[in-house]
Amino acid sequence: MPSFLSKSFLRLPPKSPRIFRHSPMSTLPTKRRLRGVVFDMDGTLTVPVIDFAAMYKAVLGDDEYKKVKAENPSGIDILHHIENWNPDKQRKAYRIIADYEKQGLDRLQIMPGAAELCGFLDAKKIRRGLITRNVKESVDLFHQRFGMMFFPALSREFRPYKPDPAPLLHICSAWEVQPNEVMMVGDSLKDDVACGKQAGAVTCLLDERGRYISQDFARLDLTPDFKVSSLNEVYSLLESSFDLTP
Ligand SMILES: [Mg+2]
Repeated sequence: MPSFLSKSFLRLPPKSPRIFRHSPMSTLPTKRRLRGVVFDMDGTLTVPVIDFAAMYKAVLGDDEYKKVKAENPSGIDILHHIENWNPDKQRKAYRIIADYEKQGLDRLQIMPGAAELCGFLDAKKIRRGLITRNVKESVDLFHQRFGMMFFPALSREFRPYKPDPAPLLHICSAWEVQPNEVMMVGDSLKDDVACGKQAGAVTCLLDERGRYISQDFARLDLTPDFKVSSLNEVYSLLESSFDLTP
């Protein structure tokens, strides 16, 4: 079962007005309405295959990598880091990143439970979108291999990218739903949970390998609403704790 880090939505509603006292409905807890789910791609809908540490080392060089890593113990934001480099150095860095992403694509595997979860959302007519810091080409290939579309699917060509809430807010407005009616699911605390929280969405951290401990949440001041260790748990969480009404 998913761990409930925040039970705020599970609280019973205030006492029902006297007039409804005999109605059986008045004893049911109110479930939070959810109209859409937005997923991260790498490490969430696909099995993580990119060796990020090796990629960062290749971009930054060994010494700089050590320095940047020490300054950012909770994770390096490589795109942000190279943003102000001179154009030549930046082009080189993007080429290295693209090579690593390409290798990742060659070995792309769909995350167990992803197809079932999406089938369930489709059956409930709940919207599903995607936000990734990877490039559009990777999203296109993912769609091809997965055989199901996410819409909107925003890649890093959409600026500003995660952890900025802009892509998630863009999806909410395209769907014409409120951010608090949407769940953001991802495997990165600093990108996915941060983006979801800033947008005002429900956040669900996928922590397959038990990478995150509560100290990480405290250090980054980011506590996801839910933490799960598989996409199957997302399925049970949606079914048990939310009112899924498109
Ligand atoms: Mg990810």
